[in-house]
Amino acid sequence: MSKKIIIAKARISKVYQIGLPSDVREELKIESGDNITFIKEDGMIYVEKNTIECFVCDGVGEVYKKKCPICEDGLILKQDYNDAHRLLGKIIANSDDINITISNKKIRLHSEEYVRSILSLIEDKINKLLQENNQSAKKILGKAKISKVNQIGLPSDLREELNIKTGDDINFIKKDGMIYVEKNTVLCFLCNGEGEIEKRPCPVCDDGLLLKDSVNNGRMILKNIINYSNDIHITIINKKVKLKSAVYTRETLKKIEKRLNDNLI
Ligand SMILES: [Zn+2]
Ligand SMILES: [Zn+2]
Repeated sequence: MSKKIIIAKARISKVYQIGLPSDVREELKIESGDNITFIKEDGMIYVEKNTIECFVCDGVGEVYKKKCPICEDGLILKQDYNDAHRLLGKIIANSDDINITISNKKIRLHSEEYVRSILSLIEDKINKLLQENNQSAKKILGKAKISKVNQIGLPSDLREELNIKTGDDINFIKKDGMIYVEKNTVLCFLCNGEGEIEKRPCPVCDDGLLLKDSVNNGRMILKNIINYSNDIHITIINKKVKLKSAVYTRETLKKIEKRLNDNLI
């Protein structure tokens, strides 16, 4: 049960305008130019940032008289709309009636409750996004000059991209002849920083390192497996993940399954 707390107050002007209190702006992570939506549910009105109508139910909240498996109320966050892994998370969280299999970066949905056309619509959208994720473009995030004492100021676009703040740790990583900057990485729980397990590439980390934030984030781990391994077949039934593979031992798969299932929802 979540506790109700007043985070701020605002007075309505003669032309019905209010200034959004800074605590509310912070909570919703909004800036000027963002859109907010007022939503009524269970007799309460709440505010959400940047929502758009769901592409599956067109804002109705249900399809063929069943609860929409993508959104909860006909609306989805803009940032979820173009993120395959967040959409996947929505299905896992919202619907017990859909089983998911993922092989070779391709998702397939199975359900006796939803018609094929709805499942295909979702599959197409997610598979397209998974493809696009694979073709990453190079983008310059800023330049920096090295001072006499070998210090650099981190460009603001870079800080934003890495989501780093003062006090965070960053690592410089060499891979494929390139040097990468990553925030807050820790040794991978599966391969212990080796980058491989059973003489094969580690299916969780790619290079032995994991973002600190993702170690206990089931969806991030799931995302890594989809991105890094073609050799693992994923089944999600009733929010429980089961992995199958012809190349990794059951012991390895079990370790990943446990981490996923403890942290998925
Ligand atoms: Zn929907
Ligand atoms: Zn690893």
